[in-house]
Amino acid sequence: MDLTGDLKKHAKSLGSDLVGVADLALLQGIATEPADLLAPYRYAISIAVKLPHAVFEQLTDRPTPLYAQVYLNANALLDQIALRLCAHIERQKYAALPIPASQPLDMTVFRSHLSAKAVANAAGLGWQGKSLLIVTPEYGPRVRLVTVLTDMPLTADKPLKNRCGACTCCTEACVAGAIRNVSTDFHYASREEALDFQKCADKLVKEFSQMENIGKPICGLCIKVCPWGRKLKGRRSQSEAQNPAG
Ligand code: SF4
Ligand code: SF4
Repeated sequence: MDLTGDLKKHAKSLGSDLVGVADLALLQGIATEPADLLAPYRYAISIAVKLPHAVFEQLTDRPTPLYAQVYLNANALLDQIALRLCAHIERQKYAALPIPASQPLDMTVFRSHLSAKAVANAAGLGWQGKSLLIVTPEYGPRVRLVTVLTDMPLTADKPLKNRCGACTCCTEACVAGAIRNVSTDFHYASREEALDFQKCADKLVKEFSQMENIGKPICGLCIKVCPWGRKLKGRRSQSEAQNPAG
């Protein structure tokens, strides 16, 4: 089996639901911490773990303690998968660096070492929806993501075409009125193009993270309503399942 096929098979055996490879040439100019983070590497592996549908069905207008714990558990699983995948790559004498699944370096602007969403977008796991979330054809935005950087000579995947169409579900459901209902072909030039970021951040940091048994800036409502995530739980027809956003 080729290196890419073997790597993806191994990542799946570790518990990944989706795996893609991004050519870092597609991410030139992206903000990283430190600034030369990507310099030793040529590819970024994007890994997704899906979240259970039932936890989203409990959300009404705020996150629940159950969702908060599932969020933590998914991040822990992703970090374990990334660590083990790095060991697998290093055994083959290539370099690999895991980027933690959720480690904001600045809680006011929500920046981390590298955007896992930007990597997933470039790796073809999903397109960037109007909510800024990565929307996967398989599970909608009901996934968490982690990244592994490597110099292993892999075959990169291609980014997906945006399939939000005329859908306005996340715009209408946003509890902060933050989503602008603007689509992008590949990725937004800045997140402000898609979102009034401060409105979203204020809701999550000042209100939701202060709630008992939540303790972190999460929400889940724009994830819940996306038809690409909801299509799997209901009994939709084949045509609806293929294009649930219309
Ligand atoms: S996370 Fe919540 S507040 Fe932020 S855009 Fe989504 S629904 Fe709106
Ligand atoms: S809810 Fe609709 S507009 Fe928002 S990300 Fe999902 S498909 Fe796109």
